[in-house]
Order: sequence, then structure tokens, then C-alpha cells
Amino acid sequence: MLAAELALAGVACRVLEKRDHQANITRAFGIGPRTLELLDARDLAQNLIPNGNKIPQGQFGARAGFELTVIDSRFNYMLIVPQSGTEKMLEEHCRELGVPIERGAQVEGLTPSAMTA
Ligand SMILES: Cc1cc2nc3c(=O)[nH]c(=O)nc-3n(C[C@H](O)[C@H](O)[C@H](O)COP(=O)(O)OP(=O)(O)OC[C@H]3O[C@@H](n4cnc5c(N)ncnc54)[C@H](O)[C@@H]3O)c2cc1C
Repeated sequence: MLAAELALAGVACRVLEKRDHQANITRAFGIGPRTLELLDARDLAQNLIPNGNKIPQGQFGARAGFELTVIDSRFNYMLIVPQSGTEKMLEEHCRELGVPIERGAQVEGLTPSAMTA
């Protein structure tokens, strides 16, 4: 998402990813309202919503829970989708903006330099 935002701002960039394949694992399976609003600002939420389950409220054990129907948002729910699908969608978005994504490329060091226009 950051790479895409940089590209939209006219900053040349590329993504270096040490894994040589697209991961099939999910950690971030729940996408919250504010994230959906930010994705929607780039017309991206519509790519995820049809493939997900909308969960407006939930309970974690006896003491913790959430109730999102009361918030002032079009996206007043958690969207449950596999993280691999979200990453695939963001990767496609980057490619459309001309941001190269290089897999099997591990960053081993960084050297700060002055910004150039
Ligand atoms: C168990 C668990 C459950 C979670 N559930 C949710 C949830 O439901 N909803 C939610 O919004 N968030 C959830 N999160 C948080 C979410 O997963 C992270 O906020 C999100 O993945 C962070 O994205 P990222 O791109 O910053 O980092 P990451 O997704 O960790 O990506 C970093 C990438 O950098 C690569 N990399 C690492 N070192 C190098 C290197 N030296 N050179 C090149 N590449 C490198 C890695 O291979 C990886 O692909 C959860 C996290 C965990 C651990």
C-alpha cells in the first residue's frame, strides 16, 4: 500500500520481498472499518468485499467484544478475508501503477542519502 501511495505521489520506488513465492498464510484475516475506508478511497475495497464475510459484532471470551453497527461508516463491520487475497490485490494495484515487485530479494543493509527531487 505504501509503495502504491508513493507511486501515486510521483515517487519512484520498488518493493523488495525476501520470500520467493506468494505466501499462503493468513494473520490479518479481519479488515476493520477504517482500513476499508482507506482502501475505498483508492477504489480497492470493492475488490475484497464480495469475497469476504461481514461481521458486525463479535465476542472474544467473556470480557472482550466489538459492536460496529453503531459507528458512522459505510463499512460498519469487520470484513473477514484471507490475507493472501488482500496481498494479491495490493500487488495487482502496484503493478497497475508500474511499481516493480521483486521476490527473492532480501534487504541486507540501508544507506540513507539526501532526498532528490
Ligand atoms: C497472529 C496475528 C494476527 C493478526 N490479525 C490481524 C487482523 O485480523 N487484522 C489486521 O488488520 N491485522 C492483523 N495482524 C497484523 C497484521 O498481520 C500486520 O499489521 C500486517 O501484516 C503488517 O504488514 P506489513 O506489510 O507491515 O508487514 P508484514 O506483513 O510482516 O510483511 C513484511 C514483509 O517483509 C518481508 N521481509 C522481512 N524482512 C525482509 C528483508 N530483510 N528483505 C526483504 N523482505 C523482508 C517479509 O517476508 C514479509 O513479506 C495480525 C498479526 C498477527 C501476528
